[in-house]
Amino acid sequence: MCLSCKGFSRRQMFKAGLALSALATTRPAFAQSHMMMLRDGEAEAFVATMLAPLTQTAQVSPGLLKVRIVQHSSINAFVAEDHQLFLHSGMFVTLHTCAQFAGILAHEMGHVASQHLSRLPEEMRKTSLQTMLTMAGAVGLGAIGGGSAAAGLALGGQASAFRQLMSFTQSQEHAADTAALRYLDTLGWPKSGLQEVLQRFKDQELPSRPEAYARTHPLSHDRLEMVKHHQGRSMQGQMPTALEEDWQFVKARAKGWLEAPNHRLPEQGPDLYTKAISYQRTGESAMAFSSFERLIAQYPKKPWIQEAYATALLQAGNIDKSIVWAARAYEALPQHVMAGSTYAQALMAKEETTSTQRAERILRQMLQRERDNPSFWRELSRAQGRLGQLPQAQLSLAEEALLQRRTEDMKRFARRAKDTAQDRPTQIRAQDLLQL
Ligand SMILES: [Zn+2]
Repeated sequence: MCLSCKGFSRRQMFKAGLALSALATTRPAFAQSHMMMLRDGEAEAFVATMLAPLTQTAQVSPGLLKVRIVQHSSINAFVAEDHQLFLHSGMFVTLHTCAQFAGILAHEMGHVASQHLSRLPEEMRKTSLQTMLTMAGAVGLGAIGGGSAAAGLALGGQASAFRQLMSFTQSQEHAADTAALRYLDTLGWPKSGLQEVLQRFKDQELPSRPEAYARTHPLSHDRLEMVKHHQGRSMQGQMPTALEEDWQFVKARAKGWLEAPNHRLPEQGPDLYTKAISYQRTGESAMAFSSFERLIAQYPKKPWIQEAYATALLQAGNIDKSIVWAARAYEALPQHVMAGSTYAQALMAKEETTSTQRAERILRQMLQRERDNPSFWRELSRAQGRLGQLPQAQLSLAEEALLQRRTEDMKRFARRAKDTAQDRPTQIRAQDLLQL
């Protein structure tokens, strides 16, 4: 189930609240309340690119996995119910190479292909996702601070269930690693990344706490030996150069958002990307803009830099220019909802009919791809309201409330939509919602 439930000890540079609120300020779709999820288009697109060949190799249906980025500074990844692949945001900041990231994804793909989760006992599968997330984070934090007792106390009876879960999954780790090595071999990707990550976990083992080790340890030593053995008798692979470069930019972007600003970084390449975002976060707009413009000149074929620039411009109130760059990014990334989201937000900020009409069309396209995003429905409602489409705006609010399980609100909005709508589609959908 998980690569490691041990937290990764590193300095507490990660400003969780700051990162989430900064992201949420510029794009409501970034933050999804209590789940502590992060949305980032470039990271999501990169993960999708990495997963495409892995799913094919593992003979898993493409598009089956739903990738979720959890706001947590440790290195961890796990698959949960409904084929949701959770990746801790710390992976993007802390892992050094694309090969390490590939090793983790390949391991998780091993779990998916082997249907490990569906083989869990029924009562464990019923463990709520929120609980599992809490467990993963709490165990990790306990391990860092040596505070496992405190963590155990706080977790109460749930800890016992989690220990069982961990025990059950230990036997599956070996199988996932074996599958991962096979996938990496097939793709010609290096296995050194998986080995390095396991070595890292092993280095953090705490032999003085054998009980905790037995309960939660993902058998790093045995796993490491197995991977080493495999390494020694097979070809060394290599990550495609384009993927390695993309990884460096994804990592740079994550560092910009999630780490404390470091103005001493070099003024070029991915480091400049980190600095540009850091400048944006600290309100040094002129420095951010000049950094982004240099990056765009240097990397004209990296539209996510343009999208980040558009976000920075929007945040600073430079709406017209933000629209220009968001449009360019969206043109290059029409299939990515977060690029569409940035463009729609820039257009909405213009507060002008033509721009609002354009935003409304884009939001509809985004919702075709991601219908379960409440933020998109809310933004669509704003656009519709501004365009005088009041019943449709009410219906969009009802859709948002439905996704957020605010049943009373959902019924109220749906009733208003039904009572005022002149068109059949709105009436029919409103009626459907009222009957739920
Ligand atoms: Zn695992």
